Amino acid sequence: MEALVFTALLHYHEVSLKGRNRARFEQILLSRVQEALVGLDLKVSRIPGRILVRNVPEAKLEKVKERLSKVFGLANFAFALEADPDLEVLAELALKLIPKEVKTFRVSAKRGNKKLPFTSIEAEREVGGRIAAKTGLKVDLKNPELTVFLEFALDRAWVYTDRLRFPGPGGLPVGASGKVMTLLSGGIDSPVAAWRVMKRGAKSAFVHFHSYPHTDFASAVKAKREAEVLAAWQGGARLYLVPLAGVQAEIFAKSPEKYRTLLYRRFMLRIAERLAEREGAGALVTGDALGQVASQTLENLHAVSKAVDALVLRPLIAMDKVEVIEEAKRIGTYEISILPQQDCCSFLEPRRPATRATPEELADAEAGLDVPALVEAALAKAELLKIPSPYKGEAVPDPVPPEEV
Ligand code: ATP
Ligand code: MG
Repeated sequence: MEALVFTALLHYHEVSLKGRNRARFEQILLSRVQEALVGLDLKVSRIPGRILVRNVPEAKLEKVKERLSKVFGLANFAFALEADPDLEVLAELALKLIPKEVKTFRVSAKRGNKKLPFTSIEAEREVGGRIAAKTGLKVDLKNPELTVFLEFALDRAWVYTDRLRFPGPGGLPVGASGKVMTLLSGGIDSPVAAWRVMKRGAKSAFVHFHSYPHTDFASAVKAKREAEVLAAWQGGARLYLVPLAGVQAEIFAKSPEKYRTLLYRRFMLRIAERLAEREGAGALVTGDALGQVASQTLENLHAVSKAVDALVLRPLIAMDKVEVIEEAKRIGTYEISILPQQDCCSFLEPRRPATRATPEELADAEAGLDVPALVEAALAKAELLKIPSPYKGEAVPDPVPPEEV
């Protein structure tokens, strides 16, 4: 059989895209598609309402499919054969796409070009009639085994089948909503939180806090591997590794035990806020879910947030753990997140943590600490890992523990 060369037709939802917003959305989406397909020698272009990827040989379909399935903003995409809007030619091309075992089919046409000499219904009838005559297949409008799609736009036409059409991840293209800084713990929740915000168009930078040498360095390695998985969805990632041991030692020495975990959290937010400024990020993102652990009561979340001016987004706040786990599995971070680690916050964990702290109580509990100096000292020891897109550049090695903390 001759080798086919396809054009991928990329569709996006246009709901809520208005005016100038829309041109911007399309431009960003185009860049994200180009970025995702880098190195594959394909031609990416834009026509009204669609993005086209031309020159896709059959041998590359799987790879292109895999990469496009991680481009936020795409509602779906299809691998089509492209031709002039000539119904006879399109019927011939359709024959190449119909698998042998299929017995019934229908044709469904969409017409962007209103100047064509035929209506959508006429196109469906004509192409359907030709396919039936050549193959003996039966038309079944209600419950066909295969649907042949025709699309017409500008002066071109495309034919594909439902077996060559795939869902995209939806959402908005990364970059359309600016940047955020996600606090990535190495656990299950925070990568899902980052992914959710990415899906709404925000590119994420990451920060992980470790307690080395009081705990091992496994959490940092896990955070890096999670960031690598997430990097595929946004064309790379920047991950800061920050030692928290200095801050924790001070809290341990000078603050009431029951507030320890909450105070660690406040310092994490403060340090993350500074890194967010450095990265041009407009919000912090955490994986908190309401009521999941003692630090995640309404009161405690509020009292922790008060340590910073920054907007703190908690996309998982109303999700059940089982839902988060399912999503983590789909994204591909779950297997990494369940590897063993020593959590930085389990280090000297209070026996009876406060469950309803107020901002005033936490401010009092910090009265003996030199907060700005502790934040500066931690920032000075922050290490930045630049994780490339998996389609570009070589993977960076796993981080190793710092020599001095
Ligand atoms: P996760 O699965 O993301 O670790 P969790 O349910 O275990 O979440 P906590 O450990 O209470 O919850 O942490 C709540 C959130 O605080 C995390 O989702 C993360 O955003 C942030 N966080 C906690 N520990 C760290 C850390 N060591 N480094 C960076 N962020 C952290
Ligand atoms: Mg955790």
